[in-house]
Amino acid sequence: MARILVVEDHPANLKLARIILENAGHVVVASDDAVDGLRVAAQIRPDLVLMDIQLPGMDGLEALARLRADPATAAIPAVAFTAFAMKDDRERFLAAGFNGYLEKPISVREFPAQVAALLASAGAGART
Ligand code: MN
Repeated sequence: MARILVVEDHPANLKLARIILENAGHVVVASDDAVDGLRVAAQIRPDLVLMDIQLPGMDGLEALARLRADPATAAIPAVAFTAFAMKDDRERFLAAGFNGYLEKPISVREFPAQVAALLASAGAGART
């Protein structure tokens, strides 16, 4: 079980992610914009953040930069949650400081295992 913050402005994507993650036993907290997402991240210190890139106002890359710049949230694992999953984009996301990426559209069958692998590789749960 992990606490997962999903920052996603598309209601259908958020709804599907929430259903799948909750069915997998995780606690899901959601934000539909980056400013609110950063506030929530600092408040609840989630085990993992799924960060959409295309968001209204501040985009996901800027949000990640701010997450990493704040000592209170710098160590929180965050993955890009995006349809932009070309090889160059993946490298750009990792270079920007994301711990990984999850492709949209969400695969109902694969999503739980993908998230579990990201949690494991990010060392989620190892933080005190
Ligand atoms: Mn979006």
